[in-house]
Amino acid sequence: MAAAIHVLSKEVSNLIAAGEVVARPASVVKELLENAIDAGATRIRVSVDGPELDEIQVSDNGSGIAAEDMPTAFLSHATSKISTAFDLQQNLFLGFRGEALPSIAAVSELEMVSRPPEQELACRILVLDGKPGTPESLAAPAGTTVTVRKLFRNTPARRKFLKKPATEMGYISDLLDRLALSRPDIRFQLLHNGRTVLKTAGRGELLQAAMDVYGSGVAAMLLPVQGPGINGLLSKPALTRSSNKYCSFFVNRRWVKSREFSRLLEDVYHTRLPIGRFPVALIHLEIAPELVDINVHPNKMEIKFHDFAAVSKELEAAMLAALQSGDDWLLRPRQPLTPPVPRSAAPRPKPQQSTLQVAARPQREAAAPSSGRASFREEWAPYLVSSSAAVPSPGPVDGEKPLAEMPPSALPQPEKDEAGKAETGMEQAVPPVPAAAPARAFVFSELHYLGQFEGTYLVAAGPGGLYLLDQHAAHERVRYEHYKRRAEEEKTSPPLDLAIPVPLELRYRQKTLLIERILQLRDMGFIVEEFGPESYVLRAVPAWFDGENGAELLIGILDRIEADPDFTPARFQESEIFMMACKSAIKAKRRVDPGEVAALFAQLDACENPYTCPHGRPVYSRIASEEIHKRFLRRS
Ligand code: ADP
Ligand code: MG
Repeated sequence: MAAAIHVLSKEVSNLIAAGEVVARPASVVKELLENAIDAGATRIRVSVDGPELDEIQVSDNGSGIAAEDMPTAFLSHATSKISTAFDLQQNLFLGFRGEALPSIAAVSELEMVSRPPEQELACRILVLDGKPGTPESLAAPAGTTVTVRKLFRNTPARRKFLKKPATEMGYISDLLDRLALSRPDIRFQLLHNGRTVLKTAGRGELLQAAMDVYGSGVAAMLLPVQGPGINGLLSKPALTRSSNKYCSFFVNRRWVKSREFSRLLEDVYHTRLPIGRFPVALIHLEIAPELVDINVHPNKMEIKFHDFAAVSKELEAAMLAALQSGDDWLLRPRQPLTPPVPRSAAPRPKPQQSTLQVAARPQREAAAPSSGRASFREEWAPYLVSSSAAVPSPGPVDGEKPLAEMPPSALPQPEKDEAGKAETGMEQAVPPVPAAAPARAFVFSELHYLGQFEGTYLVAAGPGGLYLLDQHAAHERVRYEHYKRRAEEEKTSPPLDLAIPVPLELRYRQKTLLIERILQLRDMGFIVEEFGPESYVLRAVPAWFDGENGAELLIGILDRIEADPDFTPARFQESEIFMMACKSAIKAKRRVDPGEVAALFAQLDACENPYTCPHGRPVYSRIASEEIHKRFLRRS
């Protein structure tokens, strides 16, 4: 009987290894890029060509491979980067398993041209079916160029698992984004069929890299984070994203996944962001390599800190300081919640092509959001009981007298004033409580507002006790029902033309999704037109959307679709309204004046369900009089 156990042939074992290392075109690019970075390159160019991403080429200006080493590079476990177990621990290289080149070569036709700067001629080697051919000399610039053709040609099963070329290209573009953000000192260029998808300056500045990757609109909203071994950028709370894809953490210039880091980020933003929204965050950390374990499984980059508490303390302080530096607007009550964009200042772009255009739409000037989004106060002006002049203007928080010290006359006496109501037309402006609404335990407008607590809660006296309202949850509920109502009313209305089309700053993946879903987006009410090669403008928004930033909303939807390809217009209505309700809602830690509170109470009374925010958190909580009496050992 023949022996059942035998050592696999090199060909088969390389194919198996390839299955682990090379899952898709993006994994090839990842390995080749990491090799280029490890070779000390300062310029790296990636080009992907052909309808099926048939040819992938990565060129660098790094150290190159000496002619005599060329064939060795294709042996498995051949590496120049480590030789002892100690090296393994101290390692700062991106890849050192010595598996990438043989694995890629096992599933493709690979050509490598390389010249170390000190060598006169370059060496070229062609690897077919994993077998390196005879090296030949030729003239070429210093550095290395690897070209991969016919990927997975000999592994049809793997080929079947690939997604559409646009999706696979999306992964490549995401990868380049991440590497560019991890190494602002390297000039990266990504080309797809000759068109530039990404180009970074490589000047060593993180902000510049963020601008190259995410566009100047995002970059303008980023705050610097500085600390010992820490260099990063965090978005102001006004800029949010619907996925955490824009949160990246780099340790020793390597992109890593870290649950602890995600949690820390959540803590730092805490109430600053609506639920379900994420910031843009780029944090670089330099740390002694022996203080972390990096699991360099080819597909994941997970990191474990030996002592995360020590790291997180510094990191948290640095991030909080950054956010606070951008927080001043939160404490300024007179400032509009969303500063109106001076639309008239922007020149009106003239679309050159309009391949994506649909039939002409009516333009409704009056309701067009071109007027700019009204401030919290402006928006509520019709509801305000007393003019703002009559209300004591809140001073700086620190200088404010505690409520107890205020003379009773200084306390607001809001909505009891009948004359005031008539004067400001509140009666007409607030929709009546729906007739079918169940009996209410109390009327918000009849609460006696006492003041604000910790800039977050509204304190009021009312039937049977003391009422605490979460101002953010309350406003969110109001905004939520507002949008829900408008969506119902405007269901059949055509999209609203923007007076000035808004240019869209899109990543590669967003662009492809935009094109793929253009009809679905049009059904939602977003009209987008091509404006020059690969650039797009937003021309109209859904009729029910009266918010100012339609482009942000559209980008949020594209991100959503990217994260969840089953995303449909019906689900869009539901969940996106939540999001917008949040976005335009008054934040915690913001001073409100009694006029605003009165208006808020009136609007809550007009809500179908004023008791919870759209996410289900309570709007108010009552402390019963008996409970208060009990604390003072009195009988009620
Ligand atoms: P690893 O990167 O894990 O060492 P690879 O199979 O990716 O293994 O590469 C094998 C070796 O080939 C590397 O250790 C390095 O010496 C050399 N090499 C690969 N790509 C390049 C490059 N772009 N520039 C210089 N040397 C390279
Ligand atoms: Mg490698």
